Parts: sequence; C-alpha cells; structure tokens
Amino acid sequence: MSNETQLKPIRMVDLVSQYQQIKHEIDAAIHSVIDRAAFINGQEVKDFQADLEKYLGVRHVIPCANGTDALQIAFMALGLKPGDEVITASFTYVATAEVIGLMGLTPVLVDVDPNTFNIDPKEVEAAITPKTKAIVPVHLFGQCADMEQLMALAVKHNLYVIEDTAQAIGAEYTFLDGRKQKAGTIGTIGTTSFFPSKNLGGYGDGGAICTNDDELAAKMRMICNHGQSKQYYHDVIGVNSRLDTLQAAILGVKLKHLDSYASARRNLADAYDKAFNEPSVIANGNGEGPVTLSRLSVGLSRCQTPYRSLNSTHVFHQYTLKLSGVNRDELRAHLESKGIPSMIYYPVPCHKQRAFASSITDRAYPVTEALCECVISLPMHTEMEEEQVDFIVSSVIEFLTK
Ligand SMILES: *Cc1c(COP(=O)(O)O)cnc(C)c1O
Repeated sequence: MSNETQLKPIRMVDLVSQYQQIKHEIDAAIHSVIDRAAFINGQEVKDFQADLEKYLGVRHVIPCANGTDALQIAFMALGLKPGDEVITASFTYVATAEVIGLMGLTPVLVDVDPNTFNIDPKEVEAAITPKTKAIVPVHLFGQCADMEQLMALAVKHNLYVIEDTAQAIGAEYTFLDGRKQKAGTIGTIGTTSFFPSKNLGGYGDGGAICTNDDELAAKMRMICNHGQSKQYYHDVIGVNSRLDTLQAAILGVKLKHLDSYASARRNLADAYDKAFNEPSVIANGNGEGPVTLSRLSVGLSRCQTPYRSLNSTHVFHQYTLKLSGVNRDELRAHLESKGIPSMIYYPVPCHKQRAFASSITDRAYPVTEALCECVISLPMHTEMEEEQVDFIVSSVIEFLTK
C-alpha cells in the first residue's frame, strides 16, 4: 500500500529499462559482430567514427579504450614536458587531474563558477604563468564551460585547450557572434568517455578523442596503436587503446538516439525545476495533508535548481541541486528510506585528495569547497516515469518543509 511498492524501482541511471526499448537494434548489432568475429578494428568502429564525426561536426574522431586514455593520448600528442603547467578545475572527477599528474605535468587546480560549477575564467587567468601550456575545461554535469572567455585566454597566452567532454557529449555552445559548436570541437582537442552511465554509454568501457587538426589527428591515431605508422614499424612510443568492435556497434545504435535521450533528460530536469520552483504544483502532493504555502516557500528556498547558461545547451548528465540550511545526510537517508537513490558529485575536491598533496599551493577554493558541502544529485536518466518523478519530488519537498 505504500507509494513505492507500486512504482518501478528508482535508479540513479536506469540502463536496463533503456536497453529494453532498443533491445532489437542492440541485439542485432551485437550478433552481427559475433557472427563475423570482427572483435578488433571491425567495420563498426569505422562506421561509428564517421557517424560521430558527422554528429559533432568535427574533422577527426579517434576512438579509444576509455575517457581517461583519451586525455592521456591528447597530452602525449601535444608533446608537453615535465614541469609544464596545465590548468584545470578542482571540482571535477579525478581522471582529469590524474592524467596531468601521470604525464609528469603540473596540475594547477583552480576554483569554479558557483552557478555553472564550471572552471572560472578569472581564476584561470590569475593562474597563468610562463610555464602554463594548456587549459583543460571540464564541461561538468552536461553544460559547457565559458568557452568564449577560455578561448580568448588561450589565444592571448598561446595555450592549448583540451575539453573534457565526458559528461557533455551533444551539448552545444553558442559564441557571441552566433557561431554554434558542439562540446569537444571548440578547443585544440576534445575527449570523451562512453562509460555505461555517461550520456552516450556503451556496455563496457570506451572513449574517443576529436580534433579539427589533421596533423594532431594522425599523431593521436598512431599513439593509440603502439605508435605504429605501418604494421611493425613504430615511430613513437604509444599505447594500446582501442574501442572494441562490440562497443562501437552498440554505440552506433545509441548515437542515433542521443538527441532524443538528451530531450528526455531535459524534460526530466524541467519537471524537477517546475516542482521545486512552483510550490502550488505540489502543495497537496505529499500525502500528509495540505502543506501551507509559506512553509513550502521556506522549504524550497533551501534548494536551488540547476543554473542554465545562456551560451550552452544542457544535456543533464546530472541534475544537481544546491542546498542551504539542510542536513544533507539526513535528506539522503530520508530519500533512501523511500527507495530513492541520490549521489554527491563530488564530496572531496581534487585539491584535497591525498594524491595531489604535492601540487597544492596556497590558492583558495571557496566555491569548490562550498559546493562539495551543499550539492546533491537526484536520479537522472532517459526512462523516468511520471509517477517516479512525482514520488521523488514530493519526498524531497516533504523533507525540506518538515
Ligand atoms: C567519466 C569521466 C572521465 C573518465 O572516463 P573513463 O571512460 O571512465 O575513463 C573523465 N573525466 C570526466 C569529467 C568524467 O566524468
């Protein structure tokens, strides 16, 4: 008789329900690869590469094994030297900063914008030194960083820009002159991940690099394949980083649905926004008798819905609220008791990770540190049902107005 027993289980990401919608297409694509045993460098890899180039509007896509490798291969191709400084945001998934460190480069972690959660160009500018060689904006949670300003800084200081597009594939940035470009195709190199829970996710690991620079593309293709120019001739030290044919076949199917997946995510975000910003919609909705509007507005002022940038579409990899005056752990426990998962992206910023202790300066991170304490991400995926949304929303509001 409780609400949750009638509902399909709520997940942060519901890949099972999504598969059921496209099962015929996916199964056919997988079987076609197995039937030919074309597991490595099969036709599907070439097809997916061409389809993604067309979708992104970029000259070259180089598929590889995962999004972390994509970043590493980008740095290898740029030929940066130990001691070179690379500026990135502290409020990100660790992979971005990790690869910079792994390559012997110096990660310079800077603070982010409190609205977009993305790297703050003013902080970038203040961090530039004669040793700075590159900026790595991460388009966090599905929305592009301020590429207008970042590209201007890059031109002025002669820096490479590597866009980490792991969370924002398909997002589109509009420059002041009206020019529109897809995330990952604006800087020197763009990298992305096809980890299953990403917006374009495979059924295992996968990644890709893209660029409009022919020379860099050739170099990165070579690096991915043991630095090989022709079989058994190795011109540079490379790595083994390939996208499986099976993953390429699956991704080829899912790429055709990517724009409709983005609208499903946006519709869910719109529904969350509406519920959290318009008290009347849910004033009587939590099953515990009418909630007075004044109590509700107090409760709702404690949760701020995601900011939407004017320059970038939002593909909502995550739907992340900012809480104020709320015990976040208790809210999560309350949701969990009702079968509603939630996540904290990210509880510990990169500059506070032990792994980066040696690159820590006395730089201040007031925004990043405040965000780590106050953000909460709600379930976000392409298969959410209306009743599930209502239940999530009323459960959050029930706690906030308690
Ligand atoms: C997921 C992610 C990566 C790494 O991708 P993998 O495919 O898991 O290696 C890198 N950067 C960001 C911002 C990510 O979210």
